[in-house]
Amino acid sequence: MKLFRVVCLLCGLASSSFAIDREAFTITKYDLEIRLEPVQQRLGARGKITLRNDSTQPQKVATLQITSTLSWRSIKAEGKPVQFVSQPYVSDIDHTGALSEALVTLPAEVKPKEAVELEISYEGTIPLDATRMTQIGVPDELAKHASWDQISPSFTAVRGAGYVAWYPIATESADFSEGNSLFEVVDRWKAREARSEFKAILGLVGANDAGAPMLLCSGEGGASYSFESSRNHILRTDCEWKPLGLATPTFVAAYYETESKPPASLFGLADHKAGAAKYTGAFEPATKFVTEWFGQPSTPIAIADLADPHAASFESGTLLLVSMAAEDAKLAEINVVHEVVHSAISSARPWVYEGLAHFAGALDREKQDGRQAALDFLGLHREALVDLEKDVVASPQKSPSQPLATTFDETYYRSKAAYVWWMLRDMIGDEALKQAIHQYRAGDDKDPKYVEQLVGAAAKRDLGWFFTDWVYQDHGLPDFHVQSVHPWKNEKGEQLVTVTIENLGNVGAEVPFTVRFQGGEVTRRLEVRAKSTATTRVELPGAPTEIVINDGSVPESDLANNTFKIAAP
Ligand SMILES: [Zn+2]
Repeated sequence: MKLFRVVCLLCGLASSSFAIDREAFTITKYDLEIRLEPVQQRLGARGKITLRNDSTQPQKVATLQITSTLSWRSIKAEGKPVQFVSQPYVSDIDHTGALSEALVTLPAEVKPKEAVELEISYEGTIPLDATRMTQIGVPDELAKHASWDQISPSFTAVRGAGYVAWYPIATESADFSEGNSLFEVVDRWKAREARSEFKAILGLVGANDAGAPMLLCSGEGGASYSFESSRNHILRTDCEWKPLGLATPTFVAAYYETESKPPASLFGLADHKAGAAKYTGAFEPATKFVTEWFGQPSTPIAIADLADPHAASFESGTLLLVSMAAEDAKLAEINVVHEVVHSAISSARPWVYEGLAHFAGALDREKQDGRQAALDFLGLHREALVDLEKDVVASPQKSPSQPLATTFDETYYRSKAAYVWWMLRDMIGDEALKQAIHQYRAGDDKDPKYVEQLVGAAAKRDLGWFFTDWVYQDHGLPDFHVQSVHPWKNEKGEQLVTVTIENLGNVGAEVPFTVRFQGGEVTRRLEVRAKSTATTRVELPGAPTEIVINDGSVPESDLANNTFKIAAP
């Protein structure tokens, strides 16, 4: 009889799981206690979470997912255990390519907009695991440099949702091999959780004998950390965000040596001393540069070393994880500049918060090696952006548009946003843009047009069309080509050329173009609105031979049609 009931419960859930809306609930509040035992690679968790039904239907079943190497121990509501079925769920949102999913039968139906609090506990291990990458053919070594999350005695670093579900999430399956599926699922999760409150008290047990370990978490207002010399103590640190915003809750435990230059703290590993010195050396010039452009840094920031010298760097809020093995002073300076910008400017808008920090990286490259180096830096992710924007234009159903103003997609709020700030700077000049940025206050940024108003006032210029095309809407990218060229001489015998540029795209821009002639070249700028043409006249010291549009400062969908040869008369 008992067996029969268990079987029936499973049938019931199996059939109802067909109709389960995994993204019906948003976890609006986390209050967790996490115990880490590096020697066993173990993580144990207990605490409370609040689930709000954000769907339009009443819900009787809630989905909770954690990484597949952790297991559910108990789930309670109002102090009483609730029924749940635990099952593996294939999804590339986790480094293991799978989740431990609990299908929880709630004590009562939860109506739309209503919430339920659950008491949960789960435990298991978090070893290094690159399955989601190796199973689609990424070579082992390469996959490990990207998928470095693990708890281990010598070095522990674990990132949250999108990497390792070390706290519960609730998502539809994501597939790495299927275009943007993974990123869409992660972006959707982040957008749903942006206003959630997250608190986890971490405790580290049983340090090994190589000195005093430190435990860091990427909490609000910089990484909190603690360390003690006694091996028997439990190190504790709080990770807390109110709200979570864009942060990915991340913790690190390692035998770090620290250097503090307020508001920055540096955590370096003993075998990366020379590289770490490049970072400390960059603090002062970076602070000076950032202060001039973005204002006085004040929020605490932290940069922590990754053990694997080839590990891909990672950032969450004001914590940057990057291997300091590379003794590259220029790279160290860009990374420090980026974080110091976060220390100087806070914003709830990703395109402002991250966009400005990436823009600062480009400014720094320009300072180091000139404009072309800055454009190459901006161009690092140009292809990814062009691909995304192509899909937006070709199939808006499949790839919904992502206006910068509201996007949670990294390619947009990092790469595209950096381009937007760079284009604004090219259009209005350093002084006007600095003035606008200095006046930016996160607390005043309530109206979507706030940034436009600051920039417009500083530049004394109406840039409404630019903000509409690049920030408020997403209609892809511009596509310029030379429509016609007319070289001629005036009555004084001076050489001129009349140039008409056409923009085939749905987005306007002010684009630079270069006219080459025997013995030199001149560069001018021309505003060409979406689906229009613009004409200008350029004086030259010699007969023109070629026109090249766009030096790379305007992201464009097609760069193959940008050069125009002028036949000799
Ligand atoms: Zn950043």
